[in-house]
Amino acid sequence: MNPSAQPHAAHDALRVNGQRLWQSLEHFAGIGATGRGGCNRQALTDADREGRDTFSAWARAAGCTVTVDAVGNLYARRGGTEQDAAAVLASSHLDTQATGGRYDGVYGVLAGLEVLRVLDELQVRTRRPIEVVSWTNEEGCRFVPAMLGSGTVAGTHELGFALERRDAAGRSVGEELDRIGYRGSRPAQVFPVHASFEAHIEQGPVLERDGATIGVVTGIQGLHWLDVVLTGASCHAGPTPMDMRQDPWRAATRIIAGALALADARPPWARCTVGDVRCLPGARNTVPETVRIAIDIRHPQHEVLEQMRAELTALVAEEAARARVQGEVEAVWHMPPTNFEPRLVDLVEATARRLGYRQQRITSGAGHDSLNIARFAPTTMIFVPCAGGLSHNEAERASPEDLEAGANVLLHAVLATASE
Ligand SMILES: [Zn+2]
Repeated sequence: MNPSAQPHAAHDALRVNGQRLWQSLEHFAGIGATGRGGCNRQALTDADREGRDTFSAWARAAGCTVTVDAVGNLYARRGGTEQDAAAVLASSHLDTQATGGRYDGVYGVLAGLEVLRVLDELQVRTRRPIEVVSWTNEEGCRFVPAMLGSGTVAGTHELGFALERRDAAGRSVGEELDRIGYRGSRPAQVFPVHASFEAHIEQGPVLERDGATIGVVTGIQGLHWLDVVLTGASCHAGPTPMDMRQDPWRAATRIIAGALALADARPPWARCTVGDVRCLPGARNTVPETVRIAIDIRHPQHEVLEQMRAELTALVAEEAARARVQGEVEAVWHMPPTNFEPRLVDLVEATARRLGYRQQRITSGAGHDSLNIARFAPTTMIFVPCAGGLSHNEAERASPEDLEAGANVLLHAVLATASE
C-alpha cells in the first residue's frame, strides 16, 4: 500500500455532512431548473452567473478566498500552513447542457465545497492549500469546444481563441464574461498542483449494474472519429443486372458489421459506434454512387485503439476491393487516451476500501476537465453511480448515499495529499 493511503489517525473519523451536500445540490437544481426536473445552466448565461455567485458566497462563508481567472474559471482557495506549497485541487464544472441534469459537474464542485466546509468547521489545518475550482464551459453546448476553461489553463487553447468563441447568436465568451462580471485578473495558465481530484457521476450504467458505490477511475478513453467513404457508380435500379453493378452498399454492410465486431472482440472497454450513414444521391431506384459511414471507436489503451484503427483500415481496403468500389478512411478527430496518475488511483482505491465502500476500477467513456488537468498535474477522478446510467438528460438521478460516499472518498484523498 502507498504510504499516503495509510490512515491519518487524527482525521480518520472525519466525514462530510451528507445532508448539507444534498441540500446544496437541491439548491443548485433550482438554478436554471427545467420543467422536467433537470437543469439548463449553460455557460455564461444569467443562470450560470447565479450559480457562480452562490458558490462564491458559500466558499467565502467557509473561510475561502475566491478568485477568477481571465477565462472565468472560478477558484475557492483554503490556505495551508505552507502557503507557497503546490495546492491540492478538487474541481469540476457548474455549467450544464441545455437539457442537462442536476448532478453532472455541479456534484464535483459542491463535493469539493463540502470538503472545505468540514475542514473549516473542525478547524483542520493542512500543510498544502486546497483549491476547489469550477471550470468555464465544460459542456461545450453553447460555446464550442467543450472543456474550454480547463483547456485554456492547460495550454491546449490560447486565451484569445477561448475569448473569441461565439454562441449561435454571435455573442463571444469574452463579451459574456464581461456581461456577467466573471472576467477575472488571475492568469489563465498552468500553476503548481500537487494532486488533482474530480468527483463526478459515472454517466454510464456500469457501477449500478455491478453494485459498486465508488468507481476508481484509471483514465479516460481515447477515440478516433473516422469517416469511411465508399464510392462506386450510380446506375438505374431496373436495367442493371446485380453482377454488373459497383454498389458501395456491398462493402458498407460488411464494413459496418466488421467494425462493430472489432469492439465486440475486445470487452469490456472497446467501443464502436456507427452513428450516421449517408447515401448519395439517395434515391430509391438508383444504386448509390457514395456511401459515407461515420464511425466512432474508443479504447483506454493507446496500442489497442491504434490496432482497432489499423484493422478497420484493412477491412475497408479488403471489402472495397471485393465489391469493386473505392474505399477511403478519412480522419475526422482523434483524442488520445488519458492515463491518470497511478499513485492517486491507488490512493482513491485504498481510501474507498478503508471507508468500507464497494468499489471497482473503471475508465471514463466521457471527456472531463481532468483530461486537461492531467496534462500538467497528477490527476484522477472518483465516480459514483447514476440511475440507469442516464446523463445529459433531465431525468439524471443519483442517490444521496452514493453522493455522500463519493464526497467522503474525496475528503480523505484530499486530506492525505494535502498533508504530504
Ligand atoms: Zn461533467
